[in-house]
Amino acid sequence: MPAPVYIDSHYARTLSVDAPRRALSGTVETEICVIGGGMAGLATALGLAERGHKVVVLEAERVGWGASGRNGGMVGAGFSLGLSAIERKVGRAHAKRLYQLSADCIPLMRERIETYGIDCGPIVPGVYTAWWYDAPDEVRRHIDKMNEMDATNIDFVPRQDLRELYRTERYYDGVYKEDGFHFHALNFTIGTAAAAESRGAIVYEGSRVTSLELAGDIKRVRTAAGEVRADQVVFCCSGYLGWLHPRLALATLPVATYVVLTEPLGDRLADAVRTEHGISDTRLANDYYRALPDTRLFWGGRISAVRRPANLEAKMISDILRIYPQLQGIKAEVAWPGTMGYSVHKMPQIGQLSPGVWYNQGYGGHGMNTTTMGGELIAKAIAAQDEEWRLFEPFGLPFAGGPVGPYVAQMVYWKYKLGDWWQARR
Ligand SMILES: Cc1cc2nc3c(=O)[nH]c(=O)nc-3n(C[C@H](O)[C@H](O)[C@H](O)COP(=O)(O)OP(=O)(O)OC[C@H]3O[C@@H](n4cnc5c(N)ncnc54)[C@H](O)[C@@H]3O)c2cc1C
Repeated sequence: MPAPVYIDSHYARTLSVDAPRRALSGTVETEICVIGGGMAGLATALGLAERGHKVVVLEAERVGWGASGRNGGMVGAGFSLGLSAIERKVGRAHAKRLYQLSADCIPLMRERIETYGIDCGPIVPGVYTAWWYDAPDEVRRHIDKMNEMDATNIDFVPRQDLRELYRTERYYDGVYKEDGFHFHALNFTIGTAAAAESRGAIVYEGSRVTSLELAGDIKRVRTAAGEVRADQVVFCCSGYLGWLHPRLALATLPVATYVVLTEPLGDRLADAVRTEHGISDTRLANDYYRALPDTRLFWGGRISAVRRPANLEAKMISDILRIYPQLQGIKAEVAWPGTMGYSVHKMPQIGQLSPGVWYNQGYGGHGMNTTTMGGELIAKAIAAQDEEWRLFEPFGLPFAGGPVGPYVAQMVYWKYKLGDWWQARR
């Protein structure tokens, strides 16, 4: 079988370390087997290894090969589901606790980068959100809601200031969140694997799990060339799960989204973007982007649940030109897709299926910080019988529509786009 490789992307072209790991062969015994070597799986493995447990990670391709190594690299507190919706579902005190859990892991990520020397820079603090329509009161209400959740370092940004930095009249007022940052997501994921290994975890690549026996005290997890026998198993396969575990598959909606990297823009960059901070806008189907030190734009957006767009590079460049028509004529250097695992409630799925069988998935488009949070929750649950993961129980594993799920998701996306258009018109 050919050795697994990363898809072509800016991240894969700028790896700080590229040392493939061996595939599982033969039988290995351990305490915990983590399936999936994205940020959720590796954060779980690192959390367990730091607590002195024996862990094996099985990754079908390369660590960070999935969404974790293809994303926008923007780290910020919160979830895919908005805070007001979370509060409506679970009440204010519970929502506040959830928000704090998501915020607490941002300093933890920074601490791990420091402690383990993870080379994932440049790390640029501070992220903007731009309102797509003219509603300063709504921006202030948003800040009030964040303050109710004890969020820190959030500032109102008047439109004239925002438009100084981002030279478009598409944006109105915004907020600046100082605690967020952006970084090299694939280097972070690979660095997290190395950190787990430094604490005794074993990480196998090219080791797709093909069958499982989960009943009984000893679970058996099989790949084409080997078997892991473990007391506990954690599923962290997200949008790439396939049908490995039908119960989890039926609760997972794989949704594709895309990134483009432009050619270096030189002096032209300042016609459009005059800051190194990342930004996203408030549309439900939004863009998120940042300028790299060498004047290229790293731009994410679009989703599709059913069919991938033909001519991705041209489509992504047309998205940039919609915001910055003054950049007419710029070219793409590379564009790539990634698949997010969504749940219909847009919250992470963190929990236990049966004694010793855990899941940690469903982070959707807001997984940079929350995967570290989920990894810690599962690690604490296994290592110390901590029950904080139960805060996610109210969301559960609802049916995501099976084979029709992606079609429904596609329709929801089009509805979002229509809603964005209508909001902007109003
Ligand atoms: C283009 C894009 C842009 C994004 N931008 C942002 C952003 O800016 N900020 C943000 O917060 N979030 C962003 N996200 C979301 C974020 O990347 C994800 O939520 C997060 O990476 C999910 O991590 P994960 O470990 O759950 O999944 P993944 O990283 O997808 O990892 C799952 C892994 O499981 C492996 N696997 C699957 N099946 C098996 C099997 N049978 N055996 C062994 N291994 C298996 C896969 O190979 C894969 O490596 C973005 C996502 C995409 C795709």
